[in-house]
Amino acid sequence: MSIQQENRFQAIIAHAKEYGFVFPSSEIYDGLSAVYDYGPYGSELKKNIRDHWWKSMTQLNDNIVGIDAAIFMHPTTWKASGHVDNFSDPMIDNRDSKKRYRVDHLLEAHADKLAHEGRKEEEFALLKSMDDLLAKDDFTGLKQLIEDNKITCAISGTSNWTDIRQFNLMFKTEFGAIASDNPNDNVVYLRPETAQGIFVNFLNVQKTARMKVPFGIAQTGKAFRNEIVARQFIFRMREFEQMEMQFFVRPGTEREWYKHWKQQRLNWHLDLGTPTEKYRFHDHVKLAHYAKEACDIEYEFPIGFKEVEGIHSRSDFDLSQHQLYSKKKQQYFDNDIDEKTGKPYGNYIPYVIETSIGLDRMFLLVLSQAYDEETITKDDGATDTRVVMRIPVKLAPNKLAILPLVKKDGLPELARKLMDECKPHFRCFYEEKDAIGKRYRRQDAIGTPFCVTVDHQTKEDGTVTLRERDSMTQKRVPLSEIKNQILNLL
Ligand code: ATP
Repeated sequence: MSIQQENRFQAIIAHAKEYGFVFPSSEIYDGLSAVYDYGPYGSELKKNIRDHWWKSMTQLNDNIVGIDAAIFMHPTTWKASGHVDNFSDPMIDNRDSKKRYRVDHLLEAHADKLAHEGRKEEEFALLKSMDDLLAKDDFTGLKQLIEDNKITCAISGTSNWTDIRQFNLMFKTEFGAIASDNPNDNVVYLRPETAQGIFVNFLNVQKTARMKVPFGIAQTGKAFRNEIVARQFIFRMREFEQMEMQFFVRPGTEREWYKHWKQQRLNWHLDLGTPTEKYRFHDHVKLAHYAKEACDIEYEFPIGFKEVEGIHSRSDFDLSQHQLYSKKKQQYFDNDIDEKTGKPYGNYIPYVIETSIGLDRMFLLVLSQAYDEETITKDDGATDTRVVMRIPVKLAPNKLAILPLVKKDGLPELARKLMDECKPHFRCFYEEKDAIGKRYRRQDAIGTPFCVTVDHQTKEDGTVTLRERDSMTQKRVPLSEIKNQILNLL
């Protein structure tokens, strides 16, 4: 990452905190690594992104329905899905103290030490090498990095390290208070993805909603991963939210549906007004053993091109695994006639195309795309910087700010009346304090697309000033038309 990119990323993080979008979790206790809370504007923006995705998936596709499955699931779910055996990150043990370390923690602690000694460049180089090696699963390289940096165990003081081994990313907890001799009997996991809640409900949904293949099931909800590289703000969190859709298709048609969803999902992103060149597809070469095809939609974040959404052709792997482990048939009876045989397609386990997007990552995308530091030249020739969040209108936390010019002369009453008229239809914000210019800037900083100022002329001719965020243009509009004009613009 260049210094310029790093500065932009840091500016966005600082802005998100200062203007009530994102706070570090339990900050008064110094925060919790890779866990974040959403503030007043952040929670609105997040909800708007979620609603927009939900509507585009379930309301605009009459063959997709939604569910809301529990976070806790029967532990065998995760055995069947492969997460118990394969969802892991690297760990290393010190042979003398027998203490086990996460490889990233060990290297990060050393990087901190370098930083304290003022060796900033070495710290930066170490963290970069670590990220590169982790991304490639290069355990030999990681162990070499530990040895080259002469990192020792805090307890034994030695560098007598074992080889690096994998560590599962799922959070485990205990369920209920059932007395059992086997400690594993009470184990449950916090789900690491929402997809399995969809798979185990495949037949419930198909039967109750009377769905016919091809059809999809959509879900949004929290997922938990004990992530190993967790230093990128809300890009990689330990508790995050996913928006997933599993689309069930007849075997043999998965290629065309994969292509369909790849294009549909890119269109969804582009429809928000983000320029095409900020996106690219990354087709997976190394596929998961069950996958037929897979790609990521990558966006150019300030930290570089990174995955925001995955589209995966998962074959019948998940449903077959659940059939195997639950011993309950996961078949669908297709009574459409196969033209080749002249008979119904009959029973089969459908194939699945998955679209999976991180809500928090999409939130970071919106912030990254929206954040702008604009230089403004004033009438007297002096320049000023305006920070404006150019958030798409449909996602903006507040749609309209209503601002009486002064706190007297009956202007607040007129403004309040407009507020009462508009607030049942879209989110409004009311403010009387400070000079009007300052109030406009605050609204720019939280991305409010429109401001209305009620002034003395309003009392004379019933018009107000309507100001647009991006262009800063202002025009006089009859007060009575504001609600409908904004509704039209939305
Ligand atoms: P990555 O390679 O970045 O770890 P992944 O390939 O493991 O992601 P998936 O399991 O395909 O991710 O999850 C689907 C989506 O969920 C991702 O595209 C991303 O937007 C989001 N996601 C995954 N892990 C995290 C996380 N730790 N924090 C925030 N979002 C995440």
